[in-house]
Amino acid sequence: MLLRHTQKEIGERKAVSINPAKTCQPIGAMYAALGIHGCLPHSHGSQGCCAYHRSALTRHYKEPISAATSSFTEGASVFGGQANLLQGINNIFSVYEPDVIAVHTTCLSETIGDDLPQIRKKAQTEGKIPDGKYVIGASTPSYVGSHVTGFSNMVKSMIEFSEKTGKKNGKINIIPGWVEPCDMEEIKRMAKLTGVGTIMFPDTSGVLNAPMTGEYKMFPDGGTTIAELKSTGDSTGTLALGEWCSADAARVLDKKCKVPCRVLDMPFGLKATDRFVDAMRTIAGVSVSDELAVERGQLVDMITDMHQYFYKKKVAIAGDPDQVIAMVEFLVSIDMCPVHVVTGTPGKKFEKRIKEITKDKGFEVNVKARGDLFLLHQWIQNEPVDLLICNTYGKYIARDEDIPFLRWGFPILDRQGHQYFPTVGYKGGLRLLEKILGLLLDRKDRDDPEESFELVL
Ligand code: SF4
Repeated sequence: MLLRHTQKEIGERKAVSINPAKTCQPIGAMYAALGIHGCLPHSHGSQGCCAYHRSALTRHYKEPISAATSSFTEGASVFGGQANLLQGINNIFSVYEPDVIAVHTTCLSETIGDDLPQIRKKAQTEGKIPDGKYVIGASTPSYVGSHVTGFSNMVKSMIEFSEKTGKKNGKINIIPGWVEPCDMEEIKRMAKLTGVGTIMFPDTSGVLNAPMTGEYKMFPDGGTTIAELKSTGDSTGTLALGEWCSADAARVLDKKCKVPCRVLDMPFGLKATDRFVDAMRTIAGVSVSDELAVERGQLVDMITDMHQYFYKKKVAIAGDPDQVIAMVEFLVSIDMCPVHVVTGTPGKKFEKRIKEITKDKGFEVNVKARGDLFLLHQWIQNEPVDLLICNTYGKYIARDEDIPFLRWGFPILDRQGHQYFPTVGYKGGLRLLEKILGLLLDRKDRDDPEESFELVL
């Protein structure tokens, strides 16, 4: 029992988080920045922060993560990091030649009070930013929000590139939110099937799931180009997938360039994918393609065939708010009962949405934003579940309580495949169901008494 100190009695806790269901803002900012082609993320703080952020992403994506740091020592910690960042910008453009440096702050530089816009302006005035190259920046203090907030802040900073020329490009901007590179590919594939031209930003496909070719590329082929980012101001509209990850950027773009936006849930599961497809169809003024209709039908077929195994199964789930909201809706739509729901990211809207989705479904839900895995474990001890859905950190609970465990979300540190097999869209829904079914039926095969052990399920 690795978590033997988790007690069943739930007490009031205000000042301590135990096994938080989140990580720090700059990790999200770094992941978003990697979705710009030719971009080098830069951590404005100490080397330790940068090393941690890089390793967290490397462990999940199984790819080397390049990033620079302002390398604060005692001097910068006392007098501010302006000199370090100016020197860093100079060195990075001379040595690594990125198209963009995407700077994010850390707890230390935020606490000192470094003024990022002012430092960027100084770098520009002093000629440290070569022509045709860019430095963008996001404020990402980790003592507020979570990695999701950091992701959102960096995506918002990308709107700096957008230009309104007055000549429409006929495309839709898609802000996919923090999903896997393969999910971004899948969203683009679905848009293509609908006949819609898109600009996706950020786009980590081809960056963090790039093939092994034997040749090292510091800046892989994927990522949203600067030309595309500039063109976002001329698009017909923006679809922002996820209130927490993508909505802020879409609203800023709307305000700046009058590109109308719609905020949708991430397209996990049947209903959220339906809404996404319908939004694209409506904007493009087309009918749903036959291919997408077939994929939808296949997902409905699997739900129907296997419904008896999903019915009334209790689920505990922890993860990021945009993903968890869509997943809870999916589980409810197949008659599963997500009874314990936690996100580490703050936001009262989260609890409200989960309560709305689970209302009048025949079970009571425990839900908490800014919660932690300790609380989730306590809830499970009080009301056991048939399935746990969480990132890798959930494995301790799954082992102690002997619960089938679906690894889903960020980070996944002990399995492979999440970069390559999408879980968004109808095809992604099939993959999710296949995984959930596999876990439930493996448990049934293991636990059934011999007289009811069946060959065919
Ligand atoms: S000091 Fe702040 S930014 Fe750095 S690793 Fe810790 S939480 Fe993250």
